[in-house]
Amino acid sequence: MRQMIAGNWKMNGTLAGIAAYAAALGQGVAGVDLLICPPYPLIGPLRAACAPGIAVGAQDCAVEQSGAHTGDVAAGLLAEIGASHIILGHSERRADHNERSALVRDKSRTAIAAGLTPIICVGETLAERDAGEAETVVRAQLAGSLPDGFTGLVAYEPVWAIGTGKTATETDVQAMHATIRAALKKQLGEPGETMLILYGGSVKPTNAATLLATPEVGGALVGGASLTATDFMAIAEAA
Ligand code: 13P
Repeated sequence: MRQMIAGNWKMNGTLAGIAAYAAALGQGVAGVDLLICPPYPLIGPLRAACAPGIAVGAQDCAVEQSGAHTGDVAAGLLAEIGASHIILGHSERRADHNERSALVRDKSRTAIAAGLTPIICVGETLAERDAGEAETVVRAQLAGSLPDGFTGLVAYEPVWAIGTGKTATETDVQAMHATIRAALKKQLGEPGETMLILYGGSVKPTNAATLLATPEVGGALVGGASLTATDFMAIAEAA
């Protein structure tokens, strides 16, 4: 199964930096799917600058398809300007914008209808992990965030590992990915058996090989280290 290495630039990146970044990615890495999700205004320019085999995606979309929603961005427009994927339900959106799983599920339906492939993010906080609730929280997020017949990817991103330099241990990642796999099979049937489950949270060139070799890890969702093309490529080469 091919792994996917996805970069989430979050609210970083400049128009001026696109050409050099795309040049450094070149044709990507053989046998690995690469995806970059920059801020909205950079999706079109990055699509134009990158090799066709490198996918470009968004970090969110509106739940509505169009209409009077000032400041929101339609999934259909994202597809039109070259996005193929979309991150939905990232913990920063759940925290900063109070996004609940039901909204993530509805956005996911909108995105799929527009032809985008969602990457649904789930993950527990440190307090939830310390309370022994990590698996319950993640199961509930999956049950709430994935629409019936969901097609796409899931990313496990423990909130306490995002941007902190702390990564989950191999044992924790393996256990949670197994939990997610079981939930996906139960919820989705056969498609849940092969759906890629990405790991995210302080993935770096130094820890990528270990994380990517962990059972049920189908790739990585990389924040900080995706901002530097050489680091991102080093992670992809570890896949
Ligand atoms: P970091 O790789 O910076 O920890 O971010 C992970 C993340 O949130 C990707 O979506």
